[in-house]
Amino acid sequence: MIKENLAAVEQNMKAACERAGRSREEVTLIAVSKTKPVSMLKEVYDTGIRTFGENKVQEMCQKMDELPEDISWHMIGHLQRNKVKYIVGRVALIHSVDTYRLAEEINIQAKKKNITVPILVEVNIAGEESKFGTSAEDAMLLVEEIARLENVRIEGLMTIAPNVSDAEDNRLYFRKIKQLSVDITNKNIHNVSMKILSMGMTGDYMVAIEEGATMVRVGTGIFGERIYQNS
Ligand SMILES: *Cc1c(COP(=O)(O)O)cnc(C)c1O
Repeated sequence: MIKENLAAVEQNMKAACERAGRSREEVTLIAVSKTKPVSMLKEVYDTGIRTFGENKVQEMCQKMDELPEDISWHMIGHLQRNKVKYIVGRVALIHSVDTYRLAEEINIQAKKKNITVPILVEVNIAGEESKFGTSAEDAMLLVEEIARLENVRIEGLMTIAPNVSDAEDNRLYFRKIKQLSVDITNKNIHNVSMKILSMGMTGDYMVAIEEGATMVRVGTGIFGERIYQNS
């Protein structure tokens, strides 16, 4: 089933790129494997996918230990400061930086290892109460603050759009964050790049691609529904 799912996602991504006059190479598919067993990740890996997203530090580290080393792991979930030390140096990108204090901790751990850690600033673009992320209004200031840290490098923005039944309802939010990334680019802030725009999930990744996503995070559309135990 995973193979068929992946083929469908690939076809949808290609079609969305075509509609937007974009090249398929501009968009990275992140296979969001949270809650799924290593055997399923292996199945996805064997189709050629090398980019996986997880939202919990412990689960991610366990999977890293069990799977091949050529995988790029992306931390896409809310990150606690006391867990930063376990992933710095092991993840390709942290998508979920939404406070200066968190960026500061990443900077401390990165300095210890003498590396620079690429991050995205998470923006709560629809201003939903239930979501993490800085507000669109505060994003510029946060980017300017984090930019002063020497061992982190901002490479773009990330957002989780509202959970809607019609993906079209999120188009304005994707447009809004794209515009925000353009505004930040135009400020020419030292140590800041806006080359990545991480937006779009199973329900809305095609619209996100049409509006400029360079990374889409697809879980259910590849692995099927998630079953959460004891929650
Ligand atoms: C779970 C998750 C996804 C994937 O969601 P699906 O709807 O299953 O595609 C994407 N981004 C984040 C941040 C997630 O936590």
